[in-house]
Amino acid sequence: MTDSENKIIHQLELPVKLDSATILTYLRLDNTNKRMEEMARELADMALAAARPRAIYQVSPVCGIDGDAVDIDGTIFTSRVFSKHLINQNTVYPFIATAGRELDELPIPAKDMMRQYCLDVIKTVVLVSGIDYLSDYLKSKYSLSQVALMNPGEIKAWPLTEQKPLFALFGGGERQIGVTLSESGVMKPVKSRSGILFPNDTGFLSCRLCTQFQCPGRRAAYDPELEKEYMT
Ligand code: SF4
Repeated sequence: MTDSENKIIHQLELPVKLDSATILTYLRLDNTNKRMEEMARELADMALAAARPRAIYQVSPVCGIDGDAVDIDGTIFTSRVFSKHLINQNTVYPFIATAGRELDELPIPAKDMMRQYCLDVIKTVVLVSGIDYLSDYLKSKYSLSQVALMNPGEIKAWPLTEQKPLFALFGGGERQIGVTLSESGVMKPVKSRSGILFPNDTGFLSCRLCTQFQCPGRRAAYDPELEKEYMT
C-alpha cells in the first residue's frame, strides 16, 4: 500500500434498512401496541423515501505506539484500548457516518412529541444499520476476518475529546457527507457517528466497557473488571 493510497477519503452510500422488529425493539415495545406500531410504520415509510445515509472512511497506517499514545497516520490518539489492541496491527479504518440531514428535515411538528420520539428512534436504527453495513463492507473489501470498532465518547477508555484528532485525520472531508463537529465535540447531524474500525480476533466489544445500561443495541454485558484493566 502506498502513502498516497492512505490519504484517500473514500465515500460510501449506506443502504437504508428499517425493519419493524428492530424499530419496535429500539422503541422498547412489543407488537401489542398497535397505535405506536402504526405510527412507526408510517414514519418508517417516510424515512425510507427520504433517507440518504452515507459514510467516509480512510485506510490509515499505524505508525507507532508509545504508552497509551498511538500514532495513526501522523495523528496522535490516546487510549489504552488502542495501545493494547493495535500492537501487531499495521492498518486501521477511521470513519465518519451519518443518517443524513434529510431525516432532520422531515415535516414532523415539533409539538408532536410522540412522532418526534419515534422518528428519533428510526434515525438511530438507520445509523446503526448503516454502520453495520460499513463494517461488513470494510471486512469484505480489505479481507479482514474479524474486526472491532470504537467511537469516541462511547466509553470512558476513549473519551469524546478524541473526536478532534479523528476529524483532523479527515482534514475537512466530513463536509462532503454534510457532517460538522462543534468545539465541544458534538456532531451535526446529531445522528452521526465517528470511529475507528480495526482488525481484532480477540472478540473485543466496547459494550463490555460501556455503562449505558439502557442501550437497546448492547452486544455484550458490562464487565467492570475489564474496565479497570483499561483505566488503571
Ligand atoms: S452498550 Fe450501546 S452505547 Fe455502549 S458500546 Fe454497546 S452499542 Fe455502544
